[in-house]
Amino acid sequence: MKKSVRRAVIAGNWKMNMTPSEAKAAVEETARLTNGMSGCDVVLCVPFVDLPAAIEAAAGTHVKIGAQNVHFAEKGAFTGEVSAKMLAEVGAEYVIVGHSERRQYFGETDETVNLRTKAALAAGFKVILCLGEVLEQRKAGITSEIVSMQTKLDLAGVSAEEMANVIIAYEPVWAIGTGLTATPDQAEEVCALIRRTLASLYGDTVAEATTIQYGGSMNDANAAELLSKENVDGGLIGGASLVPAKFTKIVEAAQA
Ligand code: PEP
Repeated sequence: MKKSVRRAVIAGNWKMNMTPSEAKAAVEETARLTNGMSGCDVVLCVPFVDLPAAIEAAAGTHVKIGAQNVHFAEKGAFTGEVSAKMLAEVGAEYVIVGHSERRQYFGETDETVNLRTKAALAAGFKVILCLGEVLEQRKAGITSEIVSMQTKLDLAGVSAEEMANVIIAYEPVWAIGTGLTATPDQAEEVCALIRRTLASLYGDTVAEATTIQYGGSMNDANAAELLSKENVDGGLIGGASLVPAKFTKIVEAAQA
């Protein structure tokens, strides 16, 4: 299977930005500007409280709405957390799991990322599973070990069938929000490694069908070259997704 038959996915991660009224306007503007760009899926992952406004604004358009995390328990004493059932009822379709900011600032581990991934898949979500090395690990020359270990741990117990709803976002932590971007060759090398790891877990057919995004300071200037790589099937975009015109340029770059 070739890159051309994998579905490209350009997803925005708004992080902790935008109030509900700002979200409504930004979703409407993104939908308007990217209208007709059918060469990739367009997803916006918004703060929990923005979900109803974003979902309403995206209704009837090609833009899909996602959340930025999900808890693994069905319900209970987990103050501040949100369950898959809650997200499903408001109409979210995607959920980011394992973002490096959750791992860095909120103590999430491969174990909790795995639990969250399985809970989201069981509830029918499309999961954008984030993984990637920190700078010290890259400098120590252990990027491939780290990334392949994360892939295996984060997907433990996920079936081959469920992989149809998994998108992997390779996000080198040193490139997130820093303005530093992996070179297209660095991104390709690690995305290809992730695909080989998926092949070892699930076989070639699943590995070749899985969308693997790059994330880390992707913007309108560097997107086309990153997305031209054989194993880079899309992007997870933070900062640049907050400005619909900039995000649209990245969606445009994914049309080729
Ligand atoms: C992200 O939040 O996943 C991300 C890649 O952020 P940025 O594009 O700002 O580096």
